[in-house]
Amino acid sequence: MEAPRVVVFDAGDEDAAAVHLAGLVDELGVSAPLVVASVHGERLARSIKGARYEIPSPDASVDWASALGADAHRAGCDLVVAVGGGRCLDLAKLATARAGLTMVSAPTQLSHDGLCSPVAVALDNHGIKRSLGAIAPRSVYLSLPTLAASPVDSLRAGLGDLFANPFALRDWALAEERGLAEIDPVAWDMSERSYAAIEPFLEADPAGSAGDHRFLRSLADALILSGVAMIHSGSSRPASGGEHEISHALDELFGGPAMHGAQVAFGCIFSAALYGDDPSVLRDRVAKLGLPAEPAALGLSLDDAVTVLLAAPDTRPGRFTIIEEAALDESAARALVESIWENK
Ligand SMILES: [Zn+2]
Repeated sequence: MEAPRVVVFDAGDEDAAAVHLAGLVDELGVSAPLVVASVHGERLARSIKGARYEIPSPDASVDWASALGADAHRAGCDLVVAVGGGRCLDLAKLATARAGLTMVSAPTQLSHDGLCSPVAVALDNHGIKRSLGAIAPRSVYLSLPTLAASPVDSLRAGLGDLFANPFALRDWALAEERGLAEIDPVAWDMSERSYAAIEPFLEADPAGSAGDHRFLRSLADALILSGVAMIHSGSSRPASGGEHEISHALDELFGGPAMHGAQVAFGCIFSAALYGDDPSVLRDRVAKLGLPAEPAALGLSLDDAVTVLLAAPDTRPGRFTIIEEAALDESAARALVESIWENK
């Protein structure tokens, strides 16, 4: 699978970007595009000609995306253009897979590495978030004026999701050591480079650089590269380890109290402690980025944090990380949580 084509627009405001994006879609020679847009994506999406527009409702599920894809297939749609945040992009990826089409992704936020990954997170029939295999976008359109106006929490979450990569790689190496996984060196390298691209921005809250196009470009490139690493290895391994299991457990048990990337950054604190690193160092780094560095920041008690840690392995059966290696019982999980936060 080749890397996606990335087009960056930096030559005017969002209305100019909308015209530019519509021109690019036109050049692809499609006649009946399906545009899946969020409310925030409408302005950027509105100039696309001949399009059928769909705006997913807040409770749009996997079934909604499948029905949309089947319908788009029957109606003869020839391209999916997704313009919105992570949820909108993920629903569009599922619809694209169902319709057997290709997809252009135009993110309005840089909140996680799903911009161009083959994984989609969406609600099932019970309202629980699930990670599913889907179609990765063939091209990514980055409207920098749109991204510069995105909420700073989404940028924090984007950095938080990339925070996971070094831990995911340690988990991958550990799984290989135990004979339970095989490392793909190209994907490994991409994951490392993705983290290196945002490392200079991990020293301060991104609130200060939200409008800085150089920062936005680096964050977008890093998130895309992280997605491509997953495409290449055919697994989320290069960018997802135990810290993602913590985030999945937060979704399943507590309804996802924060954005995915914020929960992942919180999960990294557990991974650091389990690897024997000083958890206070990571805790402080996470806090410095304006991300949740303690259970209370997610509305959780220390007991809840213990529950999350114990539930983490079941969220990803078959995946071996430092959490499975530790095989904690209740008292060991409690001791770990207390060692991280009790004397804070
Ligand atoms: Zn992630």
